[in-house]
Amino acid sequence: MFSKQKITIAYTVEKCIKCGMKRKRKFVNGDVLFAESSKCTSCDGMASIEKIFGEILEK
Ligand SMILES: [Zn+2]
Repeated sequence: MFSKQKITIAYTVEKCIKCGMKRKRKFVNGDVLFAESSKCTSCDGMASIEKIFGEILEK
């Protein structure tokens, strides 16, 4: 009767402008592509959002 439940989880990939370090985190409301979102964790540069994508999980 019931098919497998699928949920889509959105992720945001941040990339530091200065050192190029990438970080993947869960998408939060207000994330916009190429916006500066947070401070880099390994240098004093700013990380901007490089990619937003969704992953489908089957339950
Ligand atoms: Zn950096």
